[in-house]
Amino acid sequence: MKFSVKILGSSGALPAYNRHPTSLIVNQNERLFMIDCGEGTQMRLNDFKVKKGKINHIFISHLHGDHYFGLLGLITSYTLLNRSTDLHLYGPPQLDEIIDVHIGIWRNEMPYKLIFHPINADEPSILFEDDELIVESIILNHRIDTTGFVFKEKLLPRKMIKEKIVEYNIPYTVINDIKAGADFIDADNNTIPNAELTNDPKEPKSFAYCSDTAYNPSMFDQLQNVNLLYHEATFMEDQEELAAKKYHSTTKQAALTAKSINAQKLIIGHFSAKYKDLDPLAQEAKKYFPESYLAIEGQEFEV
Ligand SMILES: [Zn+2]
Ligand SMILES: [Zn+2]
Repeated sequence: MKFSVKILGSSGALPAYNRHPTSLIVNQNERLFMIDCGEGTQMRLNDFKVKKGKINHIFISHLHGDHYFGLLGLITSYTLLNRSTDLHLYGPPQLDEIIDVHIGIWRNEMPYKLIFHPINADEPSILFEDDELIVESIILNHRIDTTGFVFKEKLLPRKMIKEKIVEYNIPYTVINDIKAGADFIDADNNTIPNAELTNDPKEPKSFAYCSDTAYNPSMFDQLQNVNLLYHEATFMEDQEELAAKKYHSTTKQAALTAKSINAQKLIIGHFSAKYKDLDPLAQEAKKYFPESYLAIEGQEFEV
């Protein structure tokens, strides 16, 4: 079952060196979730052949333009493309008003429903949940209300071994109980232990997105043992003071965050326009957390 993250934009506030403002796509079992939608995101979707129509949920972290100025264009294109599926949008409450100012006059005439879910930036909450996945907000430390997002796969039912159904003549009506962990009692009152009938399900994985934020230990408990962490690293280590002043993080702080939460892998992104060559940022992060990688646009990371 697929669970991956594709980078569409990795630049900080200013686009630079062919890097674009922030956006990425989470693919969970061929369902696409967009996080942030900076200017030009539509073009990046085209460049990297992402199927726009499969995106049904868009999460906006905060209302700095580099994280949402591409949204109105995308919403408009969906109208032109005659989208009919509901589109769920999650973001700060004011985002709804911003959309109204721009497209309010024809919002009710769109061929699809745009369903807005305001995010409370004061405490973590569940934004989305179904049988396979749960998405929670993370409270970040930025100049304005900002939330990150953690995508957690749920533990699936145990996998039934098909041959055993025939071997023990297991009726259809008890299959769900066995998948939930029950033993099977046959017609002669023999107990067949669950372990003989099922295999372990796939281990649930998780991905956390933290941008934009200053170094933020208050989220460490919530993010313990996340498999893949995306954390902004706008600046290098020598700019720690500037980073703190601007409520951004350094490579070192991103790496220490990954280490503190016991992540398996770190992607750093939201790079300042002052850096043309990103290799030194990767090297610096790797010093503190070896499994650190740059958010290169177009690259896909398995969770
Ligand atoms: Zn930003
Ligand atoms: Zn920002």
